[in-house]
Amino acid sequence: MSAPRQPREPVLPPDAVDTLLRDTTPWLSCEECFERMDTYAEATVADPAHVDEAMDTHLRGCAACDEEARSLIDLLRA
Ligand SMILES: [Zn+2]
Repeated sequence: MSAPRQPREPVLPPDAVDTLLRDTTPWLSCEECFERMDTYAEATVADPAHVDEAMDTHLRGCAACDEEARSLIDLLRA
């Protein structure tokens, strides 16, 4: 194969993007993220220092889930 072309956006290294898109990752798929979101939001509201590494990592890389989580947390805090 000739030199592979890399995408120019330096957001994540290509293999990290690949990892996020696969289902068998150490982190969560969007589906798994959604399943855990209620628990995550409740824990975050109860303890602002709450850390869920898998959720935090997914939310950092996924704007859709991040927005969902934020609005859920806002809702619970209201
Ligand atoms: Zn997601």
